[in-house]
Amino acid sequence: MTGLNELPIRDDLRGREPYGALQLDVPYALNTNENPYPPSERLVKALGEAVAEVAGTLNRYPDRDAVALREDLATFLNTDTPGAGLTGRQVWAANGSNEIIQQILQAFGGPGRCALGFEPSYAMHPMITHVTNTRWIDAHRDADFGLEPERAVKVVQEHRPDVVFLTSPNNPTGTALPLEAIEAVLKVAPGMVVVDEAYGEFRRAETPSALTLLPGNPRLIVTRTMSKAFAMAGTRLGYLAADPAVIDALLLVRLPYHLSAVTQAVARTAVAHGEELLGSVAALRAERDALVAWLRAEGFTVADSDANFVLFGTFPDRRRVWQDLLDRGVLIREVGPPEWLRVSVGTPEEMAAFRTALKESL
Ligand code: PMP
Repeated sequence: MTGLNELPIRDDLRGREPYGALQLDVPYALNTNENPYPPSERLVKALGEAVAEVAGTLNRYPDRDAVALREDLATFLNTDTPGAGLTGRQVWAANGSNEIIQQILQAFGGPGRCALGFEPSYAMHPMITHVTNTRWIDAHRDADFGLEPERAVKVVQEHRPDVVFLTSPNNPTGTALPLEAIEAVLKVAPGMVVVDEAYGEFRRAETPSALTLLPGNPRLIVTRTMSKAFAMAGTRLGYLAADPAVIDALLLVRLPYHLSAVTQAVARTAVAHGEELLGSVAALRAERDALVAWLRAEGFTVADSDANFVLFGTFPDRRRVWQDLLDRGVLIREVGPPEWLRVSVGTPEEMAAFRTALKESL
């Protein structure tokens, strides 16, 4: 057996760990913030037909620029955020928002450049930053996991990063950022500002999307995904909205034909059935709020959540609680600050199993 270190691997990759959310066959998987509701029979049929339609053309490369899909996504964003006024030219798509983030860093980061984020936040931001040979600057969130605009401005002015990541609602804390914080950062950031809205559709009505800030801000990028509210994690489809010039920059780094014809057909069908797929969002929000209330009533400390997961604690030994839950068939996530755990919002049945297991473990 050859060990990794015997290979002539890049020095900066030595000792690193691969991204590691567990994939276990358990009765209750509540660790990766997926939407628990699978597609309906009607949608499964429509997806099958869409795939069958492109199957006969798979000898050919797909549309390299995914023009039709990008137009569909722009139409969706204009209903999500009325007044956004987006066209397909302002939208770009890739295999998950992780690939979108990678393309952004390939185009705007790189050797000699740096990216900054406010942690705890999504672990792949620093990870992709490192892999693209960009330096990572670990700024931190406030004690309540929010981001006070004045401090954020100071940090950005001090480090002058080429890319700033603002995640709203934030993973793993669930915290949504007020638009004022994003606007304040945009005013002083010398480089690109990426607002990661992977959980954007779960936000409360009073928190507007950063999409509303796009006009007049050519250095703002808002990223979204079909993996969460859209209930299509298996499709691997992430996207962004930004100035058309940003998309011209990403065209320089994307791999030719990166989005397969099958992915494009499935994603277009999913967007066409968006009303059905997003139909569970209201129920998941209500389930989330009920979960937060229950955890607080049980005496836990709970971060406010605008997403489809909840960060709660605090545990002197979170590993023991995590393992106790897993022993009862409930897989949650050890992530974020050391004394906290994160649970994804599932079906009422899954949440009941989680509550029972948590009570038994204490
Ligand atoms: N951004 C955030 C904040 C996330 O939590 C995730 C997934 N956990 C992603 C991006 C990436 O999701 P995907 O690649 O499935 O679009």
